[in-house]
Amino acid sequence: MDGRDPAFLADVMLGRLAKWLRILGYDTKYLASTCAGPIPRSLLEGRVLLSRKKDTVAHYAGSFLIHSEKLEEQLKELREHYGLRPDRSRWFTRCLSCNVPLRKSTQEDARESVPEYVLYENIQDIRHCPSCHRYYWPGTHREKMFGQLEALGF
Ligand SMILES: [Zn+2]
Repeated sequence: MDGRDPAFLADVMLGRLAKWLRILGYDTKYLASTCAGPIPRSLLEGRVLLSRKKDTVAHYAGSFLIHSEKLEEQLKELREHYGLRPDRSRWFTRCLSCNVPLRKSTQEDARESVPEYVLYENIQDIRHCPSCHRYYWPGTHREKMFGQLEALGF
């Protein structure tokens, strides 16, 4: 790695891992359906293919074999191999469904889509996904995920 963060392409068996990599701020695409044919070159470009299948990893240069079935171990494998040190300021900055960087919402935009109590408490920190238009804000759910990441050593 040249000091830039790696980008990933998670195969179909690694949906949870893909989600957590997005939570950490890593650009991670997910192969949503079983890939019968070859993975398109355009998807692979600039990305590390993550797979639990030895055949797949042997077939694509620059891919990475995930050994464990457990999310915690999978993250650990990646962290140890790539020296991932995700900056906390980048946690929760990507849409968990689309992998697109979130944008800060204006109060006016958020007002129509976010419950009032959320507006009240989080007015500075409401973001939305420009692709699926989902809104994100800090809350107990996120705090729980923060805790999980800290427990994993991030
Ligand atoms: Zn989205």
